[in-house]
Amino acid sequence: MHPFEYAAPATVDDALGLLVEHGAEAKVLAGGQSLVPILNYRLAKPRIVVDINDLPLAAIRVEDGRLTLGALVRHHHLEESADVARHCPVLTEAAGLVGNVRVRSLGTLGGSVAHADPAAELPLALVALGARIGVRSARGRRTIEARGFFTGFLSTALAPDELLTEVEVPVMRGAGSAIEEVARRAGDFALVAALAVVGLDRRGRVETARLAFAGVGPTPARVVAAEEALVGQEPSADRLAHAAALAAEGLDPQSDPFASAAYRRLLARVLARRALTRAVVRAMGVL
Ligand code: FAD
Repeated sequence: MHPFEYAAPATVDDALGLLVEHGAEAKVLAGGQSLVPILNYRLAKPRIVVDINDLPLAAIRVEDGRLTLGALVRHHHLEESADVARHCPVLTEAAGLVGNVRVRSLGTLGGSVAHADPAAELPLALVALGARIGVRSARGRRTIEARGFFTGFLSTALAPDELLTEVEVPVMRGAGSAIEEVARRAGDFALVAALAVVGLDRRGRVETARLAFAGVGPTPARVVAAEEALVGQEPSADRLAHAAALAAEGLDPQSDPFASAAYRRLLARVLARRALTRAVVRAMGVL
């Protein structure tokens, strides 16, 4: 590991001051589950590591139809929170798929989102759910739509002097949701993950549909054509299978040492059908 200074500010303002002072030479440390391996391999050589674990950013609040999650909410908090399970159960499910128990006890929502791994479950969930990412800097606050936050492989719209402070997720009443993934071994990152959200109208037809994927490109991807193909339709097994096939056709996965592009596309189709089916069953249960 390259030598670095260490600071553990007690307030958000102090942390923002350090980010202004050191700019791109500073790295924020949250759960350390991605940053520490990066430092170990000297893939980053920051002059200072700013440990944000003492900041008051771990709250989970429900207000005005929104679930607000602090950047320091750990993956296991998402898994165990009754508010999250009640208002956004797919986040509970997604958090439970991240890594292993050790990773989930330390890793944070903000860290996962800022790190922006293309196969990560939580960024996928935020894009599918239409979440907004709250960031602060000494220049002020701004909110970024999740779908515009992820700009490329391990890249986001965050500037070096910005701290991700919270995530706002709209509560989708009456909708069902589900995430499905395939990983090579338990605890590994997914090869491909699919997340579906389906809302039904009083007649049982699809009123709203969201379908998004991780592991099939540099950022989480929604496939709007597949979503539109479902709206206004009865959610029969054939229609869900058709939408899943349409979604897989609309993706452009690349081959890598772990899986071929063709295999990723096949996984996308199968996982999308499973996720859509479970989302519909859950939506029927809440009507
Ligand atoms: P850190 O490692 O502390 O930081 C990660 C990056 O985000 C750094 O660049 C840091 O500077 C930046 N950062 C952190 N917080 C903020 C903030 N508030 N504002 C601005 N920048 C910030 N992840 C998955 O999604 N799915 C998996 O299946 C999975 N499997 C894993 C398996 C193993 C064995 C390990 C070690 C990790 C795995 N991970 C997986 C990664 C894990 O989810 C990490 O917790 C997460 O990617 C980073 O969160 P963290 O809090 O540990 O962040």
